Amino acid sequence: MSMQTNGTNGHAMNGRNGHEPAHYARLKDAVRRLAKERHAVILAHNYQEGAIQDAADFTGDSLNLARYAQTTEADIILFCGVHFMAETATMLNPTKLVLMPDLAAGCALADMVAPEQIRRWRREHPEGVVVCYINTSAAVKAESDLCCTSTNAVAVVESVPADHEILFVPDYYLGTYVKAKTKRENIRLWKGYCPAHTVILPGRVDALREAHPDAEFLMHPECGCLTKQMDLADQILSTEGMVRYVKESPAQTFIIATEQGILYRMRKDNPGKTFLPASDYASCHYMQRNTLDKVFRSLVTLQYPVRVDPALAERALRPIERMLAISYPESVSKSAGSSTARPLTEPSMRRSSPVSTRAGGNSTKVRAPS
Ligand code: SF4
Repeated sequence: MSMQTNGTNGHAMNGRNGHEPAHYARLKDAVRRLAKERHAVILAHNYQEGAIQDAADFTGDSLNLARYAQTTEADIILFCGVHFMAETATMLNPTKLVLMPDLAAGCALADMVAPEQIRRWRREHPEGVVVCYINTSAAVKAESDLCCTSTNAVAVVESVPADHEILFVPDYYLGTYVKAKTKRENIRLWKGYCPAHTVILPGRVDALREAHPDAEFLMHPECGCLTKQMDLADQILSTEGMVRYVKESPAQTFIIATEQGILYRMRKDNPGKTFLPASDYASCHYMQRNTLDKVFRSLVTLQYPVRVDPALAERALRPIERMLAISYPESVSKSAGSSTARPLTEPSMRRSSPVSTRAGGNSTKVRAPS
């Protein structure tokens, strides 16, 4: 697992909201003190502002954060990211109190697909397999067979037997990338998109590349320009993949096509290198709802708890655990409901009869190959 461990002596000048460094230094110390008293762990997504990344125990992408949340022994998980991530954390580790600094930190992409739309597709495609990006609500995950992140989407799709049609929700661009990588024709792509990534436009990328011919161009698969520039990208990577790549690459300049919050971590980890955002507008308003002030308030008041109805969580966990079983085979026994979590291709599920992948009476069947 690749994850950044943040000390408490990180940079003070880091918020993207222009606060005074001294204010952040004091606040960060108070947050760390309080987190220790509360036995809380602070998790930050790579897109969070620098002040939060510096105060966090761990910074990572969705997959690493989910994995961390699943295994932490802290009493409280203060999740600095967006709502679906905190939902995933609480489902993976239901005995912990999971808090968010701001409950309005949602996700425009996650809101683009609803559970009833998936149920309708299933009625029309009874043999189909639904793969949902982790950027979905628990209610959508509960209707899905497999979950994925941008790190493992290709491996997750490759785990589905080739003769099964797949519905990939909700990100059209990640789905396009997966379709190209797997060379699989029977994938239906939902037409969802992330507004922060679709403002990254080919013209601006072309101009940057022309001005910086030695720069490496790294692209996140959610990018709207992906369909036109997939072949031009030096690397198409998840956020964690990007963080790792820029450390290891001998290149000195990088054009980064994803949400701008990640540049803070890259610059901090690699002070001698230059990082150029592929768009000055690639900024997620939901991620930015979290601030270090709200993190502090959250630890003081223990607000805002994120809970998922246990019956819904039981169903939503299955695609998540199947995903974790593909990425981290040793992880499955660590979380609730694990007895049913297996990749769809695991031998014990390869039966000629339909295999139920859902909890409850209205289960949908996925026929596994004999
Ligand atoms: S960057 Fe896009 S996909 Fe990520 S939380 Fe924001 S709206 Fe959702």
